[in-house]
Amino acid sequence: NRQIVLKNRPVGKPDDTTLALETTDLPVAGKGEMLLRVEYLSLDPYMRGRMNDAKSYADPVAVGDPMVGGTVAQVVTSDVEGFAPGDWVLSFSGWQDYAISDGVGVTNMGADPAQPSWALGIMGMPGFTAYCGLLYIGEPKAGETVVTAAATGPVGATVGQIAKIKGCRAVGIAGGPEKCAYAVNELGFDACIDRNAADFAQQLKAACPDGIDVYFENVGGAVFDAVLPLLNPNARVPLCGLISQYNATSLPDGPDRMGALMGALLVKKIKMQGFIIFDDFPHHYPEFSKEMIGWIKSGQIKYREQLVEGLEKAPAAFNDLLEGRNFGKMVVKTGTA
Ligand code: NDP
Repeated sequence: NRQIVLKNRPVGKPDDTTLALETTDLPVAGKGEMLLRVEYLSLDPYMRGRMNDAKSYADPVAVGDPMVGGTVAQVVTSDVEGFAPGDWVLSFSGWQDYAISDGVGVTNMGADPAQPSWALGIMGMPGFTAYCGLLYIGEPKAGETVVTAAATGPVGATVGQIAKIKGCRAVGIAGGPEKCAYAVNELGFDACIDRNAADFAQQLKAACPDGIDVYFENVGGAVFDAVLPLLNPNARVPLCGLISQYNATSLPDGPDRMGALMGALLVKKIKMQGFIIFDDFPHHYPEFSKEMIGWIKSGQIKYREQLVEGLEKAPAAFNDLLEGRNFGKMVVKTGTA
């Protein structure tokens, strides 16, 4: 059984000493347990936080333990009611080939799901995050302007497409011309601005002639500096993620912007609200699932995955994700099938 374990807590960007591939004996399922073979491992930005020795909304991974993560697996042997060998399941088995489970928190997807890995993306945590954050915190109304960064990733791409379904102007922000072209031509964003362009802030302003009513925050940092002056009175800011800070080891250069931020929130009566998807919104999952299946079937929502072959490639792929070298939802095909 191959596992990728946390060897050292990274300072800044994870490097060659952070994670290591180790091989252990195949785990043995006992009474009331099942053996799962992981087929797909989801790579998600939150995993960077789990490498730190700091209590966030979840405990850190212990040094020496396998990294945690959402997975799609197949049941090999089962002594758990409702799970039979061959069933596909959504589990939280982490960065490894095989895992033992007692079935708690595991969803049975049946013997032959159409797109098993989509349970890690558009039909799962990232899609659900976009849906709830946008609709229940962003509360977009037809005709408003909705802006999101990381616009071709699983969260941002879904935010933009739902904004279009709701009759809004959707403006994306992404890293590079290829991603921006995809956001406009394939996903239907009205505009998408390259965050690396020298005149990024001016381009964003030009793309939002009526200001910004909803800013779905995925990234923070320099992108937020450009967004803040464009926010309209009564704007809503679902605070979903701050990926530009996940590897940061110090505060950003330049003048302290805290006063400007709080002043803008006050005088423009802006609502900025953080959320952790499974803490705050689990009761909306059935409604999300029904709506999303309909939107995918009707072609109103498109989904792009970047599949990386081989569990051993997960550490490098994870750094690619943190630094924007992914194009679509990052999923590792573990390579055990
Ligand atoms: P993505 O697949 O979109 O990957 C992250 C993207 O962030 C990169 O591809 C890159 O896109 C962008 N990025 C990286 N560094 C920077 C930077 N310095 N400045 C601006 N953009 C940067 O990830 P997800 O869709 O899975 O997640 C998006 C966000 O949502 C993350 O912040 C994540 O932590 C958060 N999240 C929060 C949840 C919650 O419950 N609150 C649940 C799920 C996700 P590009 O190159 O195009 O700019």
